Amino acid sequence: MLKLFMLNVHPIPAFTDNYIWAIVYGNSSVVVDPGDSSPVFDFLKSNNLDLESILITHHHFDHTGGMLDLAKKYNCPVYGPTGDHIDGLTNKVSEGDEITILNFKFKVFETPGHTLDHIAYFHSSDKGSYLFCGDTLFSGGCGRLFEGTAEDMFTSLNKFISLPEETLVFCAHEYTQSNLKFALSVNPSNLDLIKYSKEVDELRSNSEITLPSNIGLEKKINPFFLLNDKEILKSSEQFIGEKISNSMESLAAIRSMKDSF
Ligand SMILES: [Zn+2]
Repeated sequence: MLKLFMLNVHPIPAFTDNYIWAIVYGNSSVVVDPGDSSPVFDFLKSNNLDLESILITHHHFDHTGGMLDLAKKYNCPVYGPTGDHIDGLTNKVSEGDEITILNFKFKVFETPGHTLDHIAYFHSSDKGSYLFCGDTLFSGGCGRLFEGTAEDMFTSLNKFISLPEETLVFCAHEYTQSNLKFALSVNPSNLDLIKYSKEVDELRSNSEITLPSNIGLEKKINPFFLLNDKEILKSSEQFIGEKISNSMESLAAIRSMKDSF
């Protein structure tokens, strides 16, 4: 019954492990982070769809590379973060803004950490809750801190923790399996994590997608959502060789551990 009311969201695989998400409504669609235009053109043509608008989460090329071609061809608006460093945005949005695409309202969160300009798009209604989080949150992990600090990422992830548990999380990369290998190394006795890892291994052995995830699941298995877990704290204290006194330090330690995993 629930499925009838759900938003219609499709993954368009791009490059080696990116997903460009397409939200489809009737004959129209919106794509999130089109790093490459050709798989999107193919998807739209084969499904006979128009492109109503494009959503961008951050400036990295694997999220923006196809945007200009698509916007030109479909003459559609491109939403993205404020600042002057992404060419071709027509609608710049920031924290708390609400936009309507395909008749659905999406709220904008600013989520710096991976990049300083990073934003996420969130929809919640009787059709369910949907989060398009770019490279901020991954299943079992979070984005690398290329531009922001651990404090930025901590604040950003906290915005997601308070969303409804059933919120579907549409991450931009198929990183789940490698994230879970790391998660198991710092949190080996987490039974939910062990169970989920087996499910993911099974999916990946058949080259199947592991997304979307959901907030309730991430709260049980994602080390970046379990910063006060005793086992994770112990692993990170061992790694940095000193006592950790707050969640931010814990996040910084786990993130640098993951960087060298
Ligand atoms: Zn990125």
